[in-house]
Amino acid sequence: MRFHKSESAFFVFIVVILAAGVVDLLAYDLAQTFLETSSGEVARALRAIGGYLFASLVLIATALFFGIFFIYPQIRIQVREEGKLRAMTRSLSARSETLEQAALTDALTGMQNRRYFDEALSEYLEEFQRIGKPVGLMIFDLDHFKQVNDTHGHDVGDEVLRAVAGCLKDMTRYHDVVARLGGEEFAIVAPNMDITMLTRLAERIRTAIAAMPVMSGNVRLRVTSSVGLAVWDGKETADSLFRRADQQLYQAKKLGRNRVSA
Ligand code: GH3
Ligand code: MG
Ligand code: MG
Repeated sequence: MRFHKSESAFFVFIVVILAAGVVDLLAYDLAQTFLETSSGEVARALRAIGGYLFASLVLIATALFFGIFFIYPQIRIQVREEGKLRAMTRSLSARSETLEQAALTDALTGMQNRRYFDEALSEYLEEFQRIGKPVGLMIFDLDHFKQVNDTHGHDVGDEVLRAVAGCLKDMTRYHDVVARLGGEEFAIVAPNMDITMLTRLAERIRTAIAAMPVMSGNVRLRVTSSVGLAVWDGKETADSLFRRADQQLYQAKKLGRNRVSA
């Protein structure tokens, strides 16, 4: 059993008072012993000293009684309440961590969300400005996804979104940022990639999405995606980089979908 600091201080206080009581008792005993062989003035003085010592013993006993039966319970209550408060603070901070985590995660796919993506992209650009390496950005948008929902139902649509999320996760590296921007739109921030490497990776992912085995009953769905790419020019803002990739995505859609545009 571990004691709180105030409890330990209280125990020291009790031990000191007890020690004072023992010293008092010894002095009282001594006074009584000398009283037996004394008379006159000395005997009177010793009797008076004995009286004082007895009174101080009574005071010490009273102090002990109050300390043990009134002060110590108060200390216990305070210690218990403080412990409860500490446990509450701990569980609150754990919960706020979970909330923070939830605020950055997409509930449907479990991947990072738009908010996380925006923060991560800005941070990557800041970091890569220092080391002078390229950063690539891809935006994926599923083709005619509304039709998937309309034909097969929203649940199948959700299933497709989860499958695409898994596919993107599988095909990217540990330090790539993979996020669902919202709806049927996803993005990947791929550091250390020039436009050739980025195009090759985007083509591989586009092909993999098209080959994904998603079933609706016994019908196998074919899902395609259009991809817009941009590589950071080393100066522009995250917004401007995003706008360029988005324009390329628009271009890919305009050219007939199921393709990569850089
Ligand atoms: P396009 O090829 O031009 O991109 O056509 P599209 O149908 O994919 O694009 P549009 O923006 O018209 O439709 C997007 C659809 O995505 C509409 C909406 O029902 C669907 N959608 C958005 N979020 C979700 C979701 O969380 N779950 C499901 N199942 N569908 C979603
Ligand atoms: Mg869209
Ligand atoms: Mg779409």
